Amino acid sequence: MQKKIKSKLSNHHYVADAAIVWCYDNRFWKSFGKLLEKEKLKHFDPIVIAGGAKSLASPAKKSEREFLLKQIELSIKLHRTPRVILMNHADCGAYGGLKTFGNDVEKEFSTHEKELGNAKKMIQKRFPKVRVDIIFVNFTGITFIK
Ligand SMILES: [Zn+2]
Repeated sequence: MQKKIKSKLSNHHYVADAAIVWCYDNRFWKSFGKLLEKEKLKHFDPIVIAGGAKSLASPAKKSEREFLLKQIELSIKLHRTPRVILMNHADCGAYGGLKTFGNDVEKEFSTHEKELGNAKKMIQKRFPKVRVDIIFVNFTGITFIK
């Protein structure tokens, strides 16, 4: 006998309020929910990968950047997504954790600020009509970076 879990879903297509590039570190998942709630994001396309925006700003391989840009492109094409939110977070393993910054949270923040700024420019260059927000998430909350 097959195991089956019932789940009744809407089959209607949607326009996404945002594509959200998020690191899969589970410690920050509660913040993801908070972001959805506070920004009133009803329909969204989560693009969940280790390091969040790192694959745009400082990928280990160029193919990582192209893969992520393609995912964003598809979100825009399939769900007419007008907004991209790029997230990086504190103590991210993809960046080597807080210890990489000598346990200096300000040094860590300024590095992520630069990384997210560079990633934002890449999105704006490739998709000029899309609004891009960059955020840094730590253990106390979510910071929108200008
Ligand atoms: Zn991470």
